[in-house]
Amino acid sequence: MPGRVLLTDALLLDPEADAPARGSLLLEGGRIAARLPAGTVAPEGVRSLSVAGLPVSPGLLDLHDHGDLVLRPAADAVLAMRQGSASKARHGVTGFLPTTLAWPGPELLERVGEIAQAIGGVGTAEASWPGAVPLGIHLEGPWIRAEAAGAQPARGIRPYDAVEGQALFERAAGAVRMVTLAPEIPGAEALLRELARRGVVSAIGHTLAGPEDVERAVGEGARHVTHLFNAMGPLHQRGPGAAAGLLAEERLSCDVIADGAHVHPAWLRIAARVKGEQLLLITDRIEPPAGMAVPLEDASLAWPGTASIHSDGIAWRLPDGRLAGSRLTLAEAIRNCVRWRVMTRLEAVRACTLAPARLLGIEARRGTLRPGARADLVLWSDAGEVLATWVGGRLVASAPVAPAAVTALAGG
Ligand SMILES: [Zn+2]
Repeated sequence: MPGRVLLTDALLLDPEADAPARGSLLLEGGRIAARLPAGTVAPEGVRSLSVAGLPVSPGLLDLHDHGDLVLRPAADAVLAMRQGSASKARHGVTGFLPTTLAWPGPELLERVGEIAQAIGGVGTAEASWPGAVPLGIHLEGPWIRAEAAGAQPARGIRPYDAVEGQALFERAAGAVRMVTLAPEIPGAEALLRELARRGVVSAIGHTLAGPEDVERAVGEGARHVTHLFNAMGPLHQRGPGAAAGLLAEERLSCDVIADGAHVHPAWLRIAARVKGEQLLLITDRIEPPAGMAVPLEDASLAWPGTASIHSDGIAWRLPDGRLAGSRLTLAEAIRNCVRWRVMTRLEAVRACTLAPARLLGIEARRGTLRPGARADLVLWSDAGEVLATWVGGRLVASAPVAPAAVTALAGG
């Protein structure tokens, strides 16, 4: 977006406000320069772009996105992330954590190195990404509980070993931002201390942790829970169970996969009531590689450690029926949460903008509509479809049905 642009007549979905409000945003140098009243007339030299009363929110942040990284060879990391960057932007995502699997030692090391290099190499100039910007690596495993593996490849799951951990963190060159771990496995305490020392978010997941394990983990710095309810054993009214224990622990935020397959909407509603602003939305998305013709329904993909995963159109499943990631987008998760009365639209937007930004400690730059924040923005239809996405003030995606003023901007 060249020069200064005044985005006028927007319904601002500000995650720090109590309600949506009409207003205008002045964008300059890739940032939100000012918030102005709805009827503000652009001063001379400022291009005015009316969005005709449609909602505008901060860009969405996905802390758990496998994309197609996990389906391709390690050497394809840059390509996979570039294609993923563009496709995520079409769904309103402006920042994400590429998320790994429990690969065996040498493979994990190689893949983390490739992803870190892609982030460091291309990411130093954020504008060089075609759309969403990778914000760091989410290590999902390998230090998790084998009995709560979900679709994680069983042969890669292992206890934490400090020597391996150091090698991995060094290879990642500071790019690891979040680690999903089971606090009850051997070595977990050392791991939690190491993550706290490095300022990495410790998230409890793929676990059968009991109350003492959770208490100890929180004491060692655990702050978050990965895909609450999934890969943590069943719920029972007379047993604490990992899921109920983690839901009830007020010092932990949680994220959920709101696709209707991973968690029943009733549980999403309960989690939203219990956690309030501490409930985040993620996708846990697996995306067929670009160019591969994969139908939405009745689709199959090769999967590490097993023959294949299969999709009925909503989620991916192993041959035995266990869930193996979603086909969800965050925009869809927001629509689902509104439709199922889990959250209001503004609350759902907050759950994938401000809330994840706070967890990562990046809310000064991302996840808000504050003056000074990056101009990472989404324009929505009233029905909750993504019409346009800006990253650092640059229009990176626009739907054919976006207002003419926006599509004209894409052309010019
Ligand atoms: Zn998982």
